[in-house]
Amino acid sequence: MKNIAIIGSTGSIGTQTLDIARANKDIRVVALAAGNNIELLEKQAKEFRPDIVGIWSEDKAKQLSEALSNFDIRIVWGMEGLIEIARYAKSDILVTAIVGMIGIKPTVEAIKAGKDIALANKETLVTAGHIIMPLAKEKGVKILPVDSEHSAIFQCLHGETGNKISRLLITASGGPFRGKDRKFLETVTLEDALKHPNWSMGKKITIDSATLVNKGLEVIEAKWLFDIEPSNIEVVVQPQSIIHSMVEFEDGSIKAQLGTPDMKLPIQYALYYPERRYLAGDRMDFTALSGIIIDKPDRETFKGLDFAYKSISIGGSMPTVFNAANEKAVAMFLAKDIEFLQIYDIIDDCIKAHEVIENPTLEQIFETEQWVYDYIRSKY
Ligand code: NDP
Repeated sequence: MKNIAIIGSTGSIGTQTLDIARANKDIRVVALAAGNNIELLEKQAKEFRPDIVGIWSEDKAKQLSEALSNFDIRIVWGMEGLIEIARYAKSDILVTAIVGMIGIKPTVEAIKAGKDIALANKETLVTAGHIIMPLAKEKGVKILPVDSEHSAIFQCLHGETGNKISRLLITASGGPFRGKDRKFLETVTLEDALKHPNWSMGKKITIDSATLVNKGLEVIEAKWLFDIEPSNIEVVVQPQSIIHSMVEFEDGSIKAQLGTPDMKLPIQYALYYPERRYLAGDRMDFTALSGIIIDKPDRETFKGLDFAYKSISIGGSMPTVFNAANEKAVAMFLAKDIEFLQIYDIIDDCIKAHEVIENPTLEQIFETEQWVYDYIRSKY
């Protein structure tokens, strides 16, 4: 049996992880946690009968306790609850399907408790990669990427230990506004930005895809996961999302991982690594490859990528500023408080105003996050 705990079980990655658990009888879901969606969490708890269920607010935890009073399930809440789930003795692997920097502490605690991590929450490595990766090494735990691009690279690297990588080629779909100019972006609406051409994902990452911030976060995530300098990580646009990413080795050989756009594949690969299991779903139609497009990203219009390269080259607390400014700006855009292009203005403003802390501790990362939120609140 493989015992898994999931934080963020009601979201896009969380529900797809549960689809995999449903299809594989040797997975036992021992703990679940979500933010607000109490109805879905209750349904999931009744179906999977985990030992522990967590929800963010204490009030909702009380409601959940009543709704699940006939079941032998312990209900926890808040950050303490997330940490209890992350460290739960009976779990082998923690799936971090939670969105945002809130994922950092539970991930750190799970690693300290010796759990392998199926990592979807990219914000964790972007802001605290310098703490997470050495800690995982020290504790002998695996960080198994769930992001499709990083899973693709991880799959390409299987069996290549010791071989020198010359470049990582991360593919981007280009999002819903590929090919559009700045003038066009001045009038786009939230509804336009939420229409991703290939992937159905949570709202935050869908907006991040439209701004190319998501690709920027992925470049930083790849730096930490694969120990490659950002100058050797290139982003190429591949609008059909068939090539999920590529690795170029020293001899010039390039390995790519291809497949239909389906997040269940990287999730399942992370859960069973290095084993491959049957996965239901569409198979690739190779004739579709005849129309495949590979292009360069438009970094002048879609500034998300340049902000990422800039913040990781400055290093220290700057990637936290990039990430936190984006989290806040996207939340404001989702609430229709700002226009699409103001997301870039806010990130740029925060990067320029921040005084970098070298090699920040976890506390300093959270202080930096708070500084960003206070700074944005005071100006916008
Ligand atoms: P969603 O918005 O769909 O889901 C987010 C999940 O996090 C929900 O279950 C939500 O609960 C939960 N959550 C939010 N706040 C809290 C909290 N305070 N306590 C407990 N749970 C909380 O996001 P996605 O699934 O799209 O993305 C999750 C992560 O995976 C992100 O970091 C994203 O960048 C990454 N990722 C996602 C991909 C995708 O295809 N979706 C692909 C690659 C990476 P609730 O809904 O109940 O409030």
